[in-house]
Amino acid sequence: MSQLNPRQREAVHYIDGPLLVLAGAGSGKTSVITRKIAYLIEQAGIPGRHIAAVTFTNKAAREMKERVGKLVDRKLTRGLTVSTFHNLGMHIIREELAHLGYHPGFSIFDAEDAKALLQDLMLREASADAGDELSDIQSTISTWKNDMKGPQEAWSKAADEREQRIALIYKRYQQYLKAYNAVDFDDLILLPVQLFHTVPEVLAKWRRKIRYMLVDEYQDTNLCQYELVKLLVAERAAFTVVGDDDQSIYAWRGARPENLVQLKADFPSLKIVKLEQNYRSTSRILRCANEVIANNPHVFEKVLWSDHTIGDELRIVRCRNEDAEVHRVASEIIDQKLKKGLQFRDFAVLYRGNHQARLLEMKLQAFQIPYRISGGQSFFAKNEIRDAMAYLRLLINPDDDAAFLRVVNVPRREIGPRTLEQLSHYSRSRDISMHRALDEMGVETHVTEKGLDRLRRFRHWVEATCRRLYEEDPIPVLKQLFTDIEYEEWLHQHASSPKAAERRMENIWYLIDSVQRMLDNDKGTANETTIEDAISRLILRDLMEQQEEEDDSDKVQLLTLHASKGLEFPHVFIMGLEEEILPHRSSIEEGNIEEERRLMYVGITRARETLTLTYAGQRRQYGEKMETIPSRFLDELPEDDVRREGMGDLDQEANQEKGKATLSALLGDLEG
Ligand code: ATP
Ligand code: MG
Repeated sequence: MSQLNPRQREAVHYIDGPLLVLAGAGSGKTSVITRKIAYLIEQAGIPGRHIAAVTFTNKAAREMKERVGKLVDRKLTRGLTVSTFHNLGMHIIREELAHLGYHPGFSIFDAEDAKALLQDLMLREASADAGDELSDIQSTISTWKNDMKGPQEAWSKAADEREQRIALIYKRYQQYLKAYNAVDFDDLILLPVQLFHTVPEVLAKWRRKIRYMLVDEYQDTNLCQYELVKLLVAERAAFTVVGDDDQSIYAWRGARPENLVQLKADFPSLKIVKLEQNYRSTSRILRCANEVIANNPHVFEKVLWSDHTIGDELRIVRCRNEDAEVHRVASEIIDQKLKKGLQFRDFAVLYRGNHQARLLEMKLQAFQIPYRISGGQSFFAKNEIRDAMAYLRLLINPDDDAAFLRVVNVPRREIGPRTLEQLSHYSRSRDISMHRALDEMGVETHVTEKGLDRLRRFRHWVEATCRRLYEEDPIPVLKQLFTDIEYEEWLHQHASSPKAAERRMENIWYLIDSVQRMLDNDKGTANETTIEDAISRLILRDLMEQQEEEDDSDKVQLLTLHASKGLEFPHVFIMGLEEEILPHRSSIEEGNIEEERRLMYVGITRARETLTLTYAGQRRQYGEKMETIPSRFLDELPEDDVRREGMGDLDQEANQEKGKATLSALLGDLEG
């Protein structure tokens, strides 16, 4: 373990009051957090279970845990919380379910689930014209939640009719979530905050538990997250937050870099430590990063230097088109790996948007380069597969309430939230599953006859399907299931295009095929796989896939610039350095170039040894080949530190164009 520099040491040892470490990329902010956790436990005598450190991504949390594990004896870290904000929130919700009116086994709706619920709700409320602004509605609700606004407040403070309408949808949305015993991502932070505001005993309990708090990537906290921290640390203000205003890249998700300034106002005794030495990158890389970010206005002045070697020049590579670009990246990885004796894991390819990864993936596959995508969507995360898995789960365990709630209205069975709420209420009071509750429940429970009838029909259908699954050849039964529920029609109603619906249906058939393969594999042998085994194994694989991120085998890392925050790699490629990609078109339109520049700064500062920036001269957009304009950020790099490649192509292309022109002139002459 490296020696801390004097400033870092000061930050680690200071525990008498609130502390902010404000410093540029790679200066050891995260290192301060991990070292401080060790210091708190070993020197300051604060038991691990009373310390909570929060960071932004699961990956970062895992790395932090690992680093602490290397510093401190395992016995002493028992009960230590090192997690994301969302995980901390989930933990609080889980412990305080009773206060919140939820019951065990609550589901967490990700953005896709939430979107599906919203869409369904809007169809039902006959506000179908709102269909195309679904994402808009979703992000408005999310913004309100991040600003701690409930439906009521959102309604009364609505700026216009549109906001009023969304506020009403927000209200219904919350009712449905509750009925489904589900929370969405933003609720994971909002619910604990609301609970702490309303039930002082619960807050007091958590304040006793968390005696010291540390927050990484503080510049990206939103109002709600800041409130959570403030509530937990109280007047004692025993906390350390670290951040870099130049790396604030989540404004679009409600992050407030002003929280850095707010901190000083809320905690006048705040001590600020600045770190200036970068330990990550070569001097050239650092110089480029500094030059680029100097184009943004600054509230806090920061200096960043490195005593690493000067290093290679940054390369700006112009490629003919997008195919040539991914080809170049893939072949360079192979080439450099061989020449320098590197591993695949030494390389990372960063890009602005997930869609840029598709072409690259295909090229890497063609080159047989192993890769890993962080933050991309896996097979099991797809909505239709989650629906299908929920049906399968229900078939082998009708008491799985989360699965029940996921599919009871998919496709729509006209079972309203009030009915589900009653059912959930009844099952909770009797301590039985919803499926079972349907046996006992009568109209005395305020459920309408019609509602009860629909629920019972669903239940009978599930039971009949279960029976057939065990008595008959299971594969046709599974196929029949999707025909019974008219799932394909449902997909067509909900997908963005007929093609998308077909693709989703194919995913379902693929899932059923994999069940078939499992059954076929050991047919006739002594330990024949039963349908139940096969489904259980799929469920397990599903869970495993969610853990997939933990895979640390030798692979090239593919990730968005956003997802790369806090990480470092020896050799980095950033693709698509073109106007309208980076900076992104929507940001150009909104005049929000500064956030894009911060994104560029984050990208550059991930690299330790080499950095290659690529762009395509032509790119296919909306089915048409378009000439691109190189990103303005390329011009902000110091000329002495960069080397441009592929510019020769331009001459060649110009010659080709010239050739064509001469030819057509010639033809014209002939015709004339
Ligand atoms: P970012 O802003 O990207 O999140 P950071 O400020 O959190 O960066 P770290 O990730 O903590 O920086 O550190 C960057 C690199 O510098 C790591 O490889 C870390 O091990 C190394 N490092 C940190 N402090 C020191 C030190 N005092 N001596 C040597 N290496 C150090
Ligand atoms: Mg960091």
